[in-house]
Amino acid sequence: MNPLTDNLPTNISFNELGISASLLRALTDQNYKEPYPIQQKAIPAILEKSDVLGIAQTGSGKTASYVLPILSNLEGNTETKNRHVNVLVLVPTRELAMQVGEVFQLFTSYLQEKIKVLPVYGGVSINPQMINLQNVNVLVATPGRLLELVDAKAVHLSAVRTLVLDEADKMLNLGFKEEVNRILSLLPKRRQNLLFSATLSEDIDAITQLVLHEPVVIKIEAKSENLDLIKQLGYFVAEEKKGPLLRYLIQHNELQQVLVFTSSTYKADNVADKLRKNGIDATAIHSKKSQGARRKALEDFISGALRVLVATDLLARGIDIEFLPHVINYELPRSPKDYIHRIGRTGRAESPGEAISLITPEDKNHFRVIQKKMKKWVTMVDSENLEF
Ligand code: AMP
Repeated sequence: MNPLTDNLPTNISFNELGISASLLRALTDQNYKEPYPIQQKAIPAILEKSDVLGIAQTGSGKTASYVLPILSNLEGNTETKNRHVNVLVLVPTRELAMQVGEVFQLFTSYLQEKIKVLPVYGGVSINPQMINLQNVNVLVATPGRLLELVDAKAVHLSAVRTLVLDEADKMLNLGFKEEVNRILSLLPKRRQNLLFSATLSEDIDAITQLVLHEPVVIKIEAKSENLDLIKQLGYFVAEEKKGPLLRYLIQHNELQQVLVFTSSTYKADNVADKLRKNGIDATAIHSKKSQGARRKALEDFISGALRVLVATDLLARGIDIEFLPHVINYELPRSPKDYIHRIGRTGRAESPGEAISLITPEDKNHFRVIQKKMKKWVTMVDSENLEF
């Protein structure tokens, strides 16, 4: 039971939440039939200009929960000096910047009034972003690149009315604390603040104390029952046999659309190279690849044109696929939470997916800890009995 969400009426419609008529038309067009729990609570609070603390994961509908009311509030209210943005959304990664930017752009395309949205992130040339920063209303940015743009006087933050910190936990984990603090010091004191995080921690607590003023708190529990729908398997294997076992599993079981996790960018490249050399279509995505290459790999994987995507945890967060049939942990993540996050998208009632972990003798203890935390025991197979 969740006291913060369980007292909500269940059949509330978007019409009753107070968003503008043009956005209601957009929702019908996009087949958003009814608001998700986080949207039921966040939309009215944000429309009223309250601060919001949303504890929610990707997949809960959190993006629309702030995009819709922010755009509603902006309609008829977009005036600002050039290079002074109205809304600033801070995100930890380029992929999320693009995704959030796309959601804003999708909904603004239904508005009569022109609202300009721009995602900016590092790893690509800064010049086009500087030029594009004319008359932007909504800026979606990763912290480092934003500060570069501020230092170049390409954008000023003194007119920001609404600040969003999305995936704030990830932002702090990635070491963006100092950048975020500097950005906060450049914002006007009076403003609306919205902070979203998948988890609560001391760090998140500190930043919410610093940023939020009497926030409306919304907590959406992760759907843990999903774990029951996932077929989990572990294969005991020697370190040097991992590559051949991975190929065997993909080929022998004729797996399509497989997301393989490694713990380092070096390993991701290495695994993808070996798969390709053995005739299995695979690409690695990680922070050292160019923006264009990452985008293409993601698009190909989502469309089904690419069979295997090899990724690290950070990059995999940017993959907006509701259901993944196969996840393979080539290497285990350090935290049990990340393990659950990795396999979470493979659970679906009508066709349960499969999550496979390759377990070396050194991994055994750690995998036991993960299973204990998850409160589920994984069926183990000894790969020595397999012919590969
Ligand atoms: P998010 O948690 O923001 O990443 O959203 C997860 C997915 O749910 C996205 O693909 C959204 O387009 C979709 N979505 C969000 N809200 C709704 C809704 N009320 N009805 C249907 N789909 C939604």
